[in-house]
Amino acid sequence: MKYGLFSDIHGNLEALRAVLDALKGEGVDKYICLGDIVGYGANPRECLKLIKDLNPLAIAGNHDYAVVNLTDLSYFNSNAKEAILWTQNQLKEKEKKFLSALKLVHNFPNFTIVHATLKAPEEWRYILSTYEARENFQLLTTPLLFAGHSHIPIVFEGNAHYRYDFRKTVNLEEGRKYIINIGSVGQPRDGDSRASFALYDTESHMVHIRRVEYDINGAMRKIIEAGLPKILAWRLSQGE
Ligand code: ZN
Repeated sequence: MKYGLFSDIHGNLEALRAVLDALKGEGVDKYICLGDIVGYGANPRECLKLIKDLNPLAIAGNHDYAVVNLTDLSYFNSNAKEAILWTQNQLKEKEKKFLSALKLVHNFPNFTIVHATLKAPEEWRYILSTYEARENFQLLTTPLLFAGHSHIPIVFEGNAHYRYDFRKTVNLEEGRKYIINIGSVGQPRDGDSRASFALYDTESHMVHIRRVEYDINGAMRKIIEAGLPKILAWRLSQGE
């Protein structure tokens, strides 16, 4: 089985299109969306449509829930808040219903997906250290967790002792556990402005984190034209 995974799209249609184009030739059997389809970017409705058409297994991110009032706005900084309120005005009832119905965690037979953390997923914390990874490994009932939220691709692994690195190819070994953050489609924050996504092949036990260039200028222009905070456009060009 081949899974195509993507996360943190944030209404960036140009980046989403580039990722889906790249995944098209990979023989993906099932798409998985780790949340934050909306927020920040100028095309939340178009991104929702494209993603719904893939019939993915999708879970909720903090921006998705904030737009439908399932997460309090006090969690967000002022730019994010402004974009969430703007997005609330754009979406139709049907689209809001879709976001409201998304769950926080999903268990496949051999792996698990969550947007933020397994420990209190609704609190939208981050897994950025081995200490935070340990809390999540202890709650993980499968050998592998895919997450998003930080917009920084990173691989945690171990069994009793945990470590992390930033490799892009992971050969899953038996007896070890993994937490893999697949990075962000629509707002990368690791200094690499290219859109990030992942492929997981259950037969070869390989996970590949991939990057693809997209029309950043187009996405930036739309953010400015929509009247969204200009910094949300600028950060795309920096991968911040
Ligand atoms: Zn996000």
